[in-house]
Amino acid sequence: MDKKVKEIPLIPLRGITIFPYMVLHFDVGREKSIAALEEAMMRDQEIFLVSQKDAKIEEPEESEIYTVGTLCSIKQILKLPGDTVRVLVEGLSRAKIIKYVEKEPFYKAEINVLEEDDYVKDNKCEALVRTLREVFEDYIKLSATIPSEALISFDDMEDPGRLCDIISSYLMLKGDIKQELLEVFDIAKRIEKLIVVINNELEILNIEKKIGVRVKNKIDKVQKEYYLREQLKAIQEELGEDDEEKKEITKYKNKIKKAKLPKQAKERALHELERLKNTGSYSSEGGVIRSYVDWILELPWNVETTDNVDIKRAREILEAEHYGLDDVKDRIIEYLAVKHMSKSLKGPILCLVGPPGVGKTSIAKSVAHALNRNFVRMSLGGVKDEAEIRGHRKTYVGAIPGRIVYGMKQAKSKNPLFLLDEIDKMSNDFRGDPSDALLEVLDSEQNNTFRDHYLELEMDLSDVMFITTANTLDTIPRPLLDRMEIIDVSGYTYEEKLNIAKRHLVPKQLKEHNVDEDIIKFTDSAISEIIEGYTRESGVRSLERQIASVIRKSLTEMLEKDTKSENITISQIKKYLGNVKFTYDKADKEDKIGVVTGMAWTAYGGDILPIEVSAMSGTGKLELTGQLGDVMKESAKAGYSYVRANASKYGIDPDFYKTTDLHIHVPEGAVPKDGPSAGVTMISAIVSALSKKKVRHNVAMTGEITLTGRVLPIGGLKEKCLAAYRAGIDTVIIPKENEKDLLKMPKSIKSKLNFIVATHIDEVIKDALIEEK
Ligand code: ADP
Repeated sequence: MDKKVKEIPLIPLRGITIFPYMVLHFDVGREKSIAALEEAMMRDQEIFLVSQKDAKIEEPEESEIYTVGTLCSIKQILKLPGDTVRVLVEGLSRAKIIKYVEKEPFYKAEINVLEEDDYVKDNKCEALVRTLREVFEDYIKLSATIPSEALISFDDMEDPGRLCDIISSYLMLKGDIKQELLEVFDIAKRIEKLIVVINNELEILNIEKKIGVRVKNKIDKVQKEYYLREQLKAIQEELGEDDEEKKEITKYKNKIKKAKLPKQAKERALHELERLKNTGSYSSEGGVIRSYVDWILELPWNVETTDNVDIKRAREILEAEHYGLDDVKDRIIEYLAVKHMSKSLKGPILCLVGPPGVGKTSIAKSVAHALNRNFVRMSLGGVKDEAEIRGHRKTYVGAIPGRIVYGMKQAKSKNPLFLLDEIDKMSNDFRGDPSDALLEVLDSEQNNTFRDHYLELEMDLSDVMFITTANTLDTIPRPLLDRMEIIDVSGYTYEEKLNIAKRHLVPKQLKEHNVDEDIIKFTDSAISEIIEGYTRESGVRSLERQIASVIRKSLTEMLEKDTKSENITISQIKKYLGNVKFTYDKADKEDKIGVVTGMAWTAYGGDILPIEVSAMSGTGKLELTGQLGDVMKESAKAGYSYVRANASKYGIDPDFYKTTDLHIHVPEGAVPKDGPSAGVTMISAIVSALSKKKVRHNVAMTGEITLTGRVLPIGGLKEKCLAAYRAGIDTVIIPKENEKDLLKMPKSIKSKLNFIVATHIDEVIKDALIEEK
């Protein structure tokens, strides 16, 4: 390496390092540097550029300037506004300061200019150069800052020293690393060092890239959403929907103002509207908010109907619309009387209990009519989730209010008559017990602040008149039962059915078919035929259906035969409805051993329940066959035990349980029957079979039994007696405690039957079994 000593002005560089062969422009502002520049321009236009160690220092001392720098030639000078000068320089060769010659007005130093040796091509050098090219190629691929064409210009560069310097000037490196590269004079070492530096950079770039991908993914998503939203807005604006949105919000605002909402509901509605403004009503959230506000607006918060307190008129309406049902009517009139006096209609909830089709729903509707209240009906059958009563919380997707709020919306007034049908058909599961929610609804102390989960607003249900219906009381939870006043709506007798059909069902069906009453006329015997031969029920629902069916067929017949009117008689019924569908079980016509007629009460009304027992020699087995439910099986076993314990009293061999097999059979009737009331029948039959005493064929009985033989009361006496009468029985044995029910028994039955009351099974047996003379 040749050395050339020179005295030359020097400019300390801040934050840049210049390599030989590099062309670069930079701005000079410091007074000292400008002076050095001017001096250089006046001489040979060469200047020594060397970096200062810390770029922040304004006026660096000698010690704060590196000693190795680059001798450059000045290519161009441009005066910029202010005192700044822009200089374009080209690096010539490395140089090292020997000493400073002047410090003021600019630095001048004696430098050693280092001319590069000629490059000797050997294998090691060649290998190094190749490696350098490779890593630099990788670097270019990764860093987007260097155009890939740069590589091509390196391809035919023979001088590895020069290659090194040019590559170094391309790299984005920290100042001190560049300086280190500048200070390596030996070419092989310089290449090695550069390879290390580039490899290091590559590693950093790789990591950066990985981080970059992750960050970019995140940003991309956010940006995409933002972008789409903006686009949507633009589209909406273009379509004029933005305007529509505003219009919609104003429309809601007006509606809220007009609707007489309670304070909290109004505030809530306005608050939601505010949210709607922000989300935009075309978003999915917007849909949820709108339907919520709609719900608030559609509920009858302050709409009320005026009650009719005219008791006379109310009674007239009830009488006109329903035959019989005196209990219900009386209770409703009492209700009204209390309301008339106290001006408040609080009190127990009425629960109408009875088999299907006895008019529970329709009398409730009449009550609404009589009171001049709106009517809503909601069936609770199959409800097993609390949320069905009280609504789903709004956090659920697709949440809706519960049935109570739904019913109130339908009612359109805050004081409707609300019928909760089939309250006995509710069940519960893991999602909570609906009866708990119902308790709150029905409790007049609590229901003025009923809170639906969806609505999240308090609703006043205290003006609502609730009536519930059920088929049976057995499955109604006790606390619920306590809240209600039970009114039995039992089945109808044949006479009642006839009257209902004549006065209500036939006119109603004719009207529904748009037929005048004098065009199709039903004779009483025809209606009787339908009741007896084509229906088997406690209520009149299927009777009504059959009447409708007769009317339809009769109409068709009249059209076909071109006649103007028709009288419906028994023969028409046979023609239109086909063969008789039901015959009632008839009791035996003779006295027999071991055969006793019991009476049962089913969902379809009363029926007789014959029980047969036969005794045969054996080992004491007890066999039960036929149509026995669980309760009846128990009664059979209890009866068996009772007879064993009291065998001698009835003249039965006390050892019969070792020597005699008993077979109890309950013949399958038209309808399945079960219940405890077969107790007395069971014992009577066993005693008869074992004592070989005949049973009176004209006697029927009913009553639950204890192990000591006491006869307990039963339900459904009226229906049972009706069935017994139909079956040809003339004497019925009933529990003493049911004697009071006879008061309410229709005269038509009472006059035709002979009643015997019993408190103990002995009395039953005495009356039912025939003592051998
Ligand atoms: P439930 O609710 O007890 O099952 P519904 O109220 O549905 O019975 O009654 C069935 C049909 O029988 C209705 O059309 C009803 O008008 C009629 N009905 C029942 N009982 C009477 C009655 N006592 N007087 C007039 N119509 C009746």
